[in-house]
Amino acid sequence: MSNNALANAQLQVEQACKALELPNCVYEILKDTQRMIEITIPVHMDDGSLRTFKGYRAAHNTALGPAKGGIRIHPDTTGDDVKALAIWMTFKCAVTGTPYGGGKGGIVADPSKLSTRELEQLARGYVRGMHHYLGEKIDIPAPDVGSNSQIISWMVDEYCQIVGEQALGVFTGKPVELGGSLGRTEATGFGVSVIGRKIAQKKNMDLKDLTVAVQGFGNVGGFTVKHFESLGAKIVAVSDFDTEPFAIHHADGFSYDELIASGDDLRNYPGATEMLMDDFWSQKVDILIPAALANAIDVEIAQTMQASVILEGANGPVTPEADAVLDGKGITVVPDILANSGGVIVSYFEWVQNLGGYYWSEGDVANRQETAMSQAFDTIWETKENHQVSFRQAAYLNSIQKVADVMKLRGHY
Ligand code: GLU
Repeated sequence: MSNNALANAQLQVEQACKALELPNCVYEILKDTQRMIEITIPVHMDDGSLRTFKGYRAAHNTALGPAKGGIRIHPDTTGDDVKALAIWMTFKCAVTGTPYGGGKGGIVADPSKLSTRELEQLARGYVRGMHHYLGEKIDIPAPDVGSNSQIISWMVDEYCQIVGEQALGVFTGKPVELGGSLGRTEATGFGVSVIGRKIAQKKNMDLKDLTVAVQGFGNVGGFTVKHFESLGAKIVAVSDFDTEPFAIHHADGFSYDELIASGDDLRNYPGATEMLMDDFWSQKVDILIPAALANAIDVEIAQTMQASVILEGANGPVTPEADAVLDGKGITVVPDILANSGGVIVSYFEWVQNLGGYYWSEGDVANRQETAMSQAFDTIWETKENHQVSFRQAAYLNSIQKVADVMKLRGHY
């Protein structure tokens, strides 16, 4: 059960609804998505054949605003994963006061095996199949695992051509030249470091001595490394994936620029030693950051872990059973819906800028993001202390209460 992200998300919601003593109907409404669309996308491949790909878009709950969330392109993505991720988006937006509901999309494909032309056809095909359910005030996608600003550019262009108007705010995570926001690309990783600084303060950890390990070197993991390094922390271990996961270690700390300079294989980093994944997970560091896919930390791994803090850069990286083990060991887990909320917060700023047609400086964006995340952190910390619950439970108590209050005002129950 613990590897079914949807069952995990539903359990988290159920536990919080019970703790808040909300009427049963609130859980009935929140346990599944409001809308789930499945499409088949035909693509003419470069070799002349025709292949079809499955596409999904889920809107979980739109009490707080239009649905919002990324589109994941991954060969293992399932409809249930997309629903779970949409549920998490509802509460991620609520926790930081971002006026959106939760949405998520998925395309079952391996983007690394498609040519640029095939990928463009796939992106445009997704929008042709989904456009009725998308809109600046309906459902606003963004990048997620396997998608990026180029894919979003094709999608926004397709959408604008279909509706016959420039509706740039229908997608976020666009390149700056095409109505994107400064600071959006780095926002999730930067936000993870904002939360890292806050938790270090609470735990009286000195940033200069802070040791950090990061699992995953994609958009989130990469910029997390960059921003922790600029805080003065030491990134002692990084893991990445080629055909198998691998990890590298450097007692003196990695430099982001040199990691990037290592090219496709981080193992080229001068002076780095390779470490077993088991040793990566069980190493004694101040902060360990899973920044890849869901369910990376299961019970077996949790039992071996010695980090003081786990900061969830990915969505759903700790299974509920592993969460209980970590809690029992006194390891603080800062939940995804707070720790990785920087991306959607700056997506919101991008959308505001698009609707207003007026663009902000990078400093403005970063300051506003930092303020939103710091405030959310302080509120959740207080809930956690007052109710003597885990960080995750505190985040769910806070966000589910907000959604339930607005559903009540709207007369949904
Ligand atoms: N895919 C990101 C997430 O999971 C960003 C979503 C967005 O910006 O809408 O939070």
